[in-house]
Amino acid sequence: MSKHHRKLADLHTHLYGCIHSVDFLEFLLERDVDWTAYQRNYESVYGVCPPIAEILDRCRSGVAGSRDEFDRLFVFGDGDAGNFDRFQAKFEILNHGSALAGFWRGQVPVSAVIDEACAFIHKIVARQRQQNVGYIEHRMALGPEFSRCQSKEFVLAMLQSYAQYEDADVQARLAISLPREDPWPAWEVVQEAALGPLGHLLTGIDFCYLEEGYPPRQQREFFDAVKDFNRRHPGRALAILYHVGESFNDKSLESAVRWVHEAAEFGAHRLGHAIALGVDPDRYGRHVRTENVAERADQLRYDLRHREGLAEFGVHVDIAGIKAELERISTFPTDHRLTVEYDDAKIDALSRRQDYAIRCVRQLGSVIEVCPTSNRRIGGITNPQHHPVKKFIASDAPFVIASDDPGIFGTTLADEIEWVQQCHHLPDDALAHIVDLSWSSRSEVLTGRSSPATN
Ligand SMILES: [Zn+2]
Repeated sequence: MSKHHRKLADLHTHLYGCIHSVDFLEFLLERDVDWTAYQRNYESVYGVCPPIAEILDRCRSGVAGSRDEFDRLFVFGDGDAGNFDRFQAKFEILNHGSALAGFWRGQVPVSAVIDEACAFIHKIVARQRQQNVGYIEHRMALGPEFSRCQSKEFVLAMLQSYAQYEDADVQARLAISLPREDPWPAWEVVQEAALGPLGHLLTGIDFCYLEEGYPPRQQREFFDAVKDFNRRHPGRALAILYHVGESFNDKSLESAVRWVHEAAEFGAHRLGHAIALGVDPDRYGRHVRTENVAERADQLRYDLRHREGLAEFGVHVDIAGIKAELERISTFPTDHRLTVEYDDAKIDALSRRQDYAIRCVRQLGSVIEVCPTSNRRIGGITNPQHHPVKKFIASDAPFVIASDDPGIFGTTLADEIEWVQQCHHLPDDALAHIVDLSWSSRSEVLTGRSSPATN
């Protein structure tokens, strides 16, 4: 860690995912929690019931090794890796152990949730500061269970917590995560807070959680509303942070690449993960996928629109063939599933499509957020040779390295950077460039609120 002389900027983190195992244990030792729902869900995913209450009792009695037991239960490690359900089952310890669960059951007031979140903010900032992080953006969802008034209160209280670091050697900013299903109600709350006295600390909006089933084109009108807000309030402009191309089992690899490209086209300032844009297609080998007719039609129209650019990268677009296919599938129901088969030629073309889309993303000015541990453990990209960062380095894509959920992963941003450097043999000057790019890709810089100069 000490070899990074400059302070680091972590641009992709989720507030509760930053809570350190030790801090959460300290918090739980003071509490009496009903773990039934957490245990039931965990058992359905992992096949074993976690003995959380017993572990906590042993920790309270100071039994040797019990704190390590808690750590193993808490951290989503390489051994747990595989998919989002497994991650979520572990993450639930945070929801069920915190005041949120009591709030859901109507047992505690919203003020308890707010006070608790703010107390965690201070613990998290303290840890990140120790880890040489000089700037952090935290993302936090408001939760559909909050009323508009409660949401406003929550955002304001979080901003007041971040305001305590304005003169410190670590700066913290907030981005509100909006539901993909319907971002509009929370957007009202966000705009009001952004224009309020602490709005300089609220610098972005985020879309996270499940992405399959939510094509970027559905957010086009919303992105336009954000861009309009930014034009009217340049001093309080908000960056659009968009998780995309992280999970794409429901569609063709071509469509998965296109989703990332489209998110950038529609105005996302930063793209969360974008695994589809850089993953080595060899990871999947020869295989078969399916996608629905609506996606297929979108993909065919994309190919027509981008045929010249694709041709530059050696991807031939057969105009007559595409028009005939569009005609043919126009009679199918839009949710009908079509089969896509991958042979060597198609896999090779996919890699070229990625190169083309990367060039477009670069030209559009969007920045990719690479979260190595998250991609290994949630994304299941365990072989470093398949990891998207390899292509991003080779093709000079604009990317930053971030930690996503350093608490539940038991990692630090410095660990993430070191992994990239070691696995992909980055020279020191290239590494320095990536660290610099994080500073100049802060939300407030990408939206033009602040100058790229670092603090
Ligand atoms: Zn994330």
